[in-house]
Amino acid sequence: MHNGKTLHTDCCIAGGGPAGLMLGYLLARAGVNVIVIEKHADFLRDFRGDTIHPSTLEVMHQLGLLDELLTLPHQRAEKLQAEVGGEEITMADFSRLPVRCRFIAFMPQWDFLDFLARKARAYDNFTLLQETGFADFIREGDRVTGLTTLQGETIHAPLVIGADGRHSQVRAKAGLTSQSFGAPRDVLWFSLPKLPDDPALGMGHKGPKQNFIVIDRGDYWQCGYTIEKGEFERLKTGDVAAFITRLAEVAPFSEARLQVLTHWEMFRLLSIRIDRLDSWCRAGVLCIGDAAHAMSPIGGVGVNLAIQDAVATANLLTPSLLRGRVSLKTLQKVQRRRQFPTVATQFLQIKMSSKKRTRSAPSKVPQFISRYPFLRHLFGRLIGLGFRPERPRLTGKV
Ligand SMILES: Cc1cc2nc3c(=O)[nH]c(=O)nc-3n(C[C@H](O)[C@H](O)[C@H](O)COP(=O)(O)OP(=O)(O)OC[C@H]3O[C@@H](n4cnc5c(N)ncnc54)[C@H](O)[C@@H]3O)c2cc1C
Repeated sequence: MHNGKTLHTDCCIAGGGPAGLMLGYLLARAGVNVIVIEKHADFLRDFRGDTIHPSTLEVMHQLGLLDELLTLPHQRAEKLQAEVGGEEITMADFSRLPVRCRFIAFMPQWDFLDFLARKARAYDNFTLLQETGFADFIREGDRVTGLTTLQGETIHAPLVIGADGRHSQVRAKAGLTSQSFGAPRDVLWFSLPKLPDDPALGMGHKGPKQNFIVIDRGDYWQCGYTIEKGEFERLKTGDVAAFITRLAEVAPFSEARLQVLTHWEMFRLLSIRIDRLDSWCRAGVLCIGDAAHAMSPIGGVGVNLAIQDAVATANLLTPSLLRGRVSLKTLQKVQRRRQFPTVATQFLQIKMSSKKRTRSAPSKVPQFISRYPFLRHLFGRLIGLGFRPERPRLTGKV
C-alpha cells in the first residue's frame, strides 16, 4: 500500500477498466512511466461487457498477445442472430472480415483485465494501485499536474487520464460538459443454468418479440431482457413470479425453467445511457472510453471502443509523454481522431433503439436484414471492426 505517499510519474490513469489497462500496458511497453489507480480491489464484476470483438482481437494479435489470450476460457460467436416471428435471422456475420479472428470472443471481463494487468506488470515502469480511488486534481494555475487519491496518495504527473467509466469523477472534477442522447430502455441481466438437452441457441436476440438477449457462456446462459427506462424500480415493488410469467412470453425458455429466478437480487440492471463529452480534455487531463462517451449495449461495442481509444491515445501521446510534457493541442488530437467513430457508432445505436420501439412493436431492422442478406456482412463489419479501427504503433521495449 502507498498510503500517504507522494509519487511522481509521466502519466497517471484513473480507472483500471479496458481503456485504462490497455493504455497503461501500451504506455509502459513504450517506455513511459505510468501509474493506474483502480478503486476496486479486483476486477471481479458480473455482467460487465464480456465481448471481445474482432477489432480488439486484431489489436491483441498486433501486440503478439493473441495466442496466449485465446488459451483463456471463452466462447466464440461467428454470427449474431435474432429470432423474428419464429424465424432465425443472422443479424451480423463476421466471416468475411479482413482480420485474423472472424468471431466475437465472449470472455469474462475480469479474465481479460487480469490478463492485461499481468502483461503490464511485466514492465518495471508500470504500477497498478488497487483499492485506490481518484479524489481530486493537483493544479498549477489552470493546468492539471497530478491527482490525489481517497487513500491519501499524492501523484504528480504531467498528464492525468480519466478512464474511470460512465460515472467518471475525473470528467466531473474537470468540469467537462456532455451531451446526453435519449436511451429509452434499460436491460435486466440474469443467468440461467444450462441443461444437458438445451438446444444450441447461439448468440443474439431470441424470442418472438426480440426483447430477449441470450448469450452462450459455456455452462450457463447469460440472458438480458430489455425494459422501459426506470421500469425496474416499479417492477421491484411487485412479485417476481408475475414478472417471470411476462418473461416467459418472450423468452426461448419455458416458464418452469425461469422459475429458478426467485429474487429480484438475481437480476442486474444495466441503465442504458448514451452520452458524449463536448470536449474530452483540459490542460493536463484527458478522458477516454466510457468516461468520454457512454455507449448503449447495442452491438456490445463499449469495451471495443474503449480499447480503440486507448490505442489511439498511446499512438498520439507517447512521444510527448517521453519528453515529459503534453500540450493541450496534442490532447485535442485524440478527440479529433476518435470523435468520428464515437459519433457514428452512437448515431447507429440511437437509430436502432428508436423511441417508438415498445414491447409489442419490435425493431424492423431484422426483417430488413433478412430481405437484403448483404447487410448482415455490413453489420458484421460495423459491429466487429467499427469505424476507423486503430493499429498500435509498436515502439519501445517488448
Ligand atoms: C451491466 C453492464 C453490461 C455491459 N455489457 C456490455 C457488453 O456486453 N459489451 C460491451 O462492449 N460493453 C458492455 N458494457 C459497457 C462496457 O462495460 C463499457 O463500455 C466498457 O467497460 C468501458 O470501458 P472503460 O474502461 O471506459 O470503463 P469501465 O469498464 O467502466 O472501467 C472503469 C474503471 O474505473 C474504475 N473507477 C471508477 N471510478 C473510479 C475512481 N473514482 N477512481 C479509481 N477508479 C475508478 C472502475 O472500478 C472501473 O474498473 C456493459 C456495461 C455494464 C454496466
